[in-house]
Amino acid sequence: MGQTVNVMTVSGGKDSAAMWIYAVKELGVEVYPVFCDTGNEHPMTYEYIDYLESVLGPIHRVKADFSKQISHKREVVQTKWRNDRVSEEIIQQALEMLHPTGNPFLDMCLWKGRFPSTKARFCTQELKIIPTLEQVYIPLLEDGKEVVSWQGVRAQESPHRARLTEWEDTPEGYRIYRPLLKWSVEDVFEMHERHSIKPNPLYKMGMGRVGCMPCINCGKQELFEIARRFPEEVARIAEWEELVKKASKRQGATFFPTANGQGEGVHEVVEWSKTTYGGKQYDLVKAIEFEDVPVCSSQYGLCE
Ligand code: SF4
Repeated sequence: MGQTVNVMTVSGGKDSAAMWIYAVKELGVEVYPVFCDTGNEHPMTYEYIDYLESVLGPIHRVKADFSKQISHKREVVQTKWRNDRVSEEIIQQALEMLHPTGNPFLDMCLWKGRFPSTKARFCTQELKIIPTLEQVYIPLLEDGKEVVSWQGVRAQESPHRARLTEWEDTPEGYRIYRPLLKWSVEDVFEMHERHSIKPNPLYKMGMGRVGCMPCINCGKQELFEIARRFPEEVARIAEWEELVKKASKRQGATFFPTANGQGEGVHEVVEWSKTTYGGKQYDLVKAIEFEDVPVCSSQYGLCE
């Protein structure tokens, strides 16, 4: 039997950090932490990953590369689009845009000519699952290692997660282990506190979850919180919308195509996040709150 490697994906969020702390500090297990850089993370998350690395040990960074797909798309634009009688102006504009930028999230959207959505959620597959499989799991398995994939999911998070088992075998040949399945959210923060390791500061800034900034699944209140605290992230998404639009055949691409049912740009969706339920009227309290940002606001009671 080969040597066992305990791989764990660390997102910069509370659950995977608690799992890493638990494995290293309480179980004394040697782990192989992996951070999948989507290119759409908040700068504080990148800093937090560096911080975790300084207190818990080295982390392996993984990044998707879409250069081949973009190069193939250029061929499609010059052949199929022309056969489909797409205007020369649109073809030239797309060719101008279709060059890899090195940012995985943006490159994926340029290649696809659209953003992912709750109905077409290809982002997790393209940005996290495939690169981790190709760059971590498969090389380890080919090297004869026994691979255990530690996953920091909790049953309390959703009915789907409540049905998961602690151990599972995969067709690829590695085993999945879910040590936090019975943990509560309090247990997760308590694990940080017990070992004097700070949680990601974004949790004290009203974020319910840490992942892409923003995530395509982001709700109305979370978008409101992101927009008032991090307008530069909204501005970046607005810029991406313009770039992806130019690379798309139908000349349209919005980050939140269904958030308000109208498929408008991110700035319009932010305006909608300031409205009352139903999205028709401005909420005066929210309008004041938008300008008056509290230093600390946590969904998990982390503010003293
Ligand atoms: S965090 Fe959200 S946007 Fe990012 S890869 Fe996952 S589902 Fe997609």
